[in-house]
Amino acid sequence: MNNLLKKQFGENTSDDRLDLLAYSTDASQLIGEATAIVWPKKTEDVYKIIRYCHRTDSTITPRGAGTGLAGAAVPQKSIVVDFSKMDRIISIDVKSKTAVVEPGVILDSLNEELAKHKLFFPVIPASHSTATIGGMIATNAAGMRAVRYGKMISWIEELEIIDGMGRFFKANQKNIASFCGTEGTVGIVTKAKLKLAKHSKMRSLDMFKLETMEEMVDVVKSLDKDKLNAVEYVDKVAARIAGLGTSYYYLFVEYNDDTGQIFNEKEIDRTWKMRENVSVVLASEGYCIDEDPLLQLEKIPVIVDWLEKHDIPSFGHIGMGIIHPRFKTSSLLPEMYELVEKLGGEVSGEHGIGLKKKEYVKEDFKKKISELKKKYDPKNILNRNKIID
Ligand SMILES: Cc1cc2nc3c(=O)[nH]c(=O)nc-3n(C[C@H](O)[C@H](O)[C@H](O)COP(=O)(O)OP(=O)(O)OC[C@H]3O[C@@H](n4cnc5c(N)ncnc54)[C@H](O)[C@@H]3O)c2cc1C
Repeated sequence: MNNLLKKQFGENTSDDRLDLLAYSTDASQLIGEATAIVWPKKTEDVYKIIRYCHRTDSTITPRGAGTGLAGAAVPQKSIVVDFSKMDRIISIDVKSKTAVVEPGVILDSLNEELAKHKLFFPVIPASHSTATIGGMIATNAAGMRAVRYGKMISWIEELEIIDGMGRFFKANQKNIASFCGTEGTVGIVTKAKLKLAKHSKMRSLDMFKLETMEEMVDVVKSLDKDKLNAVEYVDKVAARIAGLGTSYYYLFVEYNDDTGQIFNEKEIDRTWKMRENVSVVLASEGYCIDEDPLLQLEKIPVIVDWLEKHDIPSFGHIGMGIIHPRFKTSSLLPEMYELVEKLGGEVSGEHGIGLKKKEYVKEDFKKKISELKKKYDPKNILNRNKIID
């Protein structure tokens, strides 16, 4: 262990072999190399780590819960900065519907606290029980209700940031986009002021069983966007593996009024469980590589057809154009990415680029990151080799 790190952080740093091993990966299953782990407890600690990096020519990989699926929290011979000890909900203001939180706050913990005030944070990725606010900001996370509430960026009022030069400042509406969705490569989030929502007074649900994906596209197109909470699908391969049957594509539509046929709350929850269980069953059957291409609605039947020919199950947020094919191995991924590009889509709709999809990152995003790097992290200390080389 470097003496200076030990002196500054004591028990809140480690280079124990098993710790380094545990922190060398994330949910992407890619493997990197951690040189040390630091658990900051306050903003000043983050500043100290940056200064340490400047002195020793080291780099940092920020880490929330490590649920990222693109390898953005996989260290590249870097110090992993784990925010799990900066997990305070600092304040909740019911009147302005805002909350100030540290980056390590877990989404479910925040929503549990907000429920006491009849409020909630509406960006809800399926990883809500573990994902942190810092990680969700850095990946601009989405989820099942994004069709109504949008992505993370719509729900941030202000961020406190420390950049790669150790400068501390607040980011507001003008420059939040520099730090939201840039995967910890430009600045470290040390605090966030989030906007909050109130639950709709009522909801209802429809579950459609459809014979073709083209039919599904027609139904989705016919929906009144103003009434939607969530629009999710399960394809025939996934339906078969999850035990829903072999004959139909399933479409689940939740409305924020009484449009749907299912009103009873328990029945709504039971029906949603069918969709949510698909992901769990697929993982238990070895379909562990979770992809997230984004496509125009009309192009989704083309890719689902390709996936089904290879017996690859898929499900996801069809209302947002984001689908989740689940693979057992990565051998077919390059072919799928090429098809997505050919169809004019993007290889990632919500998980980000990280290490995994650098080859396919769009030129304008590459340019944005390299310009931001010059401005905020010219020494390339923050999350080196992610998104761009
Ligand atoms: C089962 C499962 C379901 C999922 N479902 C969804 C879904 O529905 N929608 C969705 O969008 N994603 C989903 N994901 C992906 C993942 O959960 C999200 O990307 C989530 O936002 C990552 O949060 P995290 O705390 O785990 O961050 P990590 O994985 O630890 O890190 C993600 C990125 O954030 C950076 N970071 C972390 N903290 C900070 C900080 N304080 N400052 C700056 N950068 C920081 C890291 O360096 C990294 O680049 C899912 C993942 C799993 C495993």
